[in-house]
Amino acid sequence: MKLLVHGAQLQCDQGSSPSQLTVLPTNRGAVTGAHVATEQDFVPLTNIAPFGMCRSPSNPQVAAAKAPQPCVPNITVPWTSVSSEIKLNGLPVLNDTSMCKCAWAGTIRPASAGQDPVSIHPWTAPAPSKKAASTAGASTPAGRSKNALVSTSKPASQPPGPQVSKPAAPSAAPKTYFRVKFVDKLATSDPIPDLDAMVKSGNRSALLFRANGIGALWLDEPEVSPGDTVSVTSILDRREGDQNIIVYDEYAASNLPTDTPNNVILIPDKRKIANAIAAAHSIRRRASWGARPPKKRRMDQDWDFTTVVIHHSGNRDLKDAKAIQDMHMDPSGPDNFDDIGYQYLIANDGTIFEGRFLAYKGSNVQMANTGKIGILLMGDFQPDWSDGFGMFTDKPTPAQIQSTIDLVGTLKRFFPLNALGGHRDYKHGTECPGDVLYVQMGSLRAATGLGGP
Ligand SMILES: [Zn+2]
Repeated sequence: MKLLVHGAQLQCDQGSSPSQLTVLPTNRGAVTGAHVATEQDFVPLTNIAPFGMCRSPSNPQVAAAKAPQPCVPNITVPWTSVSSEIKLNGLPVLNDTSMCKCAWAGTIRPASAGQDPVSIHPWTAPAPSKKAASTAGASTPAGRSKNALVSTSKPASQPPGPQVSKPAAPSAAPKTYFRVKFVDKLATSDPIPDLDAMVKSGNRSALLFRANGIGALWLDEPEVSPGDTVSVTSILDRREGDQNIIVYDEYAASNLPTDTPNNVILIPDKRKIANAIAAAHSIRRRASWGARPPKKRRMDQDWDFTTVVIHHSGNRDLKDAKAIQDMHMDPSGPDNFDDIGYQYLIANDGTIFEGRFLAYKGSNVQMANTGKIGILLMGDFQPDWSDGFGMFTDKPTPAQIQSTIDLVGTLKRFFPLNALGGHRDYKHGTECPGDVLYVQMGSLRAATGLGGP
């Protein structure tokens, strides 16, 4: 898909000649320095210039004269067929399939000829022509450095700006700008949209900025001055508001150059992975079971998990994610955790519930949570006094076991997992996950290809 940028050529099916799309510099934060159009860029004369002579009989002047008359675009509704998944300043951006209606029955579309919109896949350096752009595309950010920051070579004296048939624009001196793009380290054709970053330019205090819907964070004068370098000092993913904030501070980058479109920060998009895992198993997300937010906005982060730890509900035999969360978070209870302790919970019917957000360190193996994903199988699998010394002891259902195997299989695709064990393997003195479930650890390891503790 191509995005429509400032200077794109437009055609009206009732007009005699093409016109040009004007996108104001307020739509900054765009790919390659061009300003990307949104659905609101439909204002006649401001955004959409006349299309020569109008021949539409719906135009009263044309009807009166019974002959084509000079076009005066009469557009009162925003563009349609927009890119709802890519937003700039909260507004869907335009692409090469977008269209717009004139009140005089004209249909306005991007012209097939002469249009040179920017492609975001793959991201390329700006260039004066399509040909040059595809050459520059060879230096995409993928895998250039093990450092998070990839700064590709500066384009030769190419100022930012529309790369399309340039409008007869005022030829003011190019202003200093700073641009950095956040890109998924694991899929470098995918930008990570809407990240928040603390940015310090020159000698100014650090300020919080939000990157746009295509992952670009963009500063202009006076936020930057000629000769400044810029440091991104902190990076946050708050795409779910104050729920499930991901901190990416280890990917901060110092002294990035201004006046280049090529600053890229590569980050593993953890939210995308958590979402993909949830989608793969129709996992009941936190919102669907009424999870409370964690006690802390910035939870301890964890990732690169190596170990799966299996738990059971124990004597209270709780089989409800909300009740388990309430118990774990109870300030007067024995746990007083910041959130539910396990990352996943599996019900008797095999339904998987999302527990603590996957980007966070769990609370399920005392003093040794780092690198561990806790999975609770709901039930009390320990024969003891609470269940008549075995008379009523639960057994894990086949559906529960199968969901566990399936979930671990998916987790292995994203994490360097090497071990699976029961809680008691990692914490002496606990019965968890109960004798009846613990004897199945060997078969779970065999089914998942994981080693022992
Ligand atoms: Zn346990």
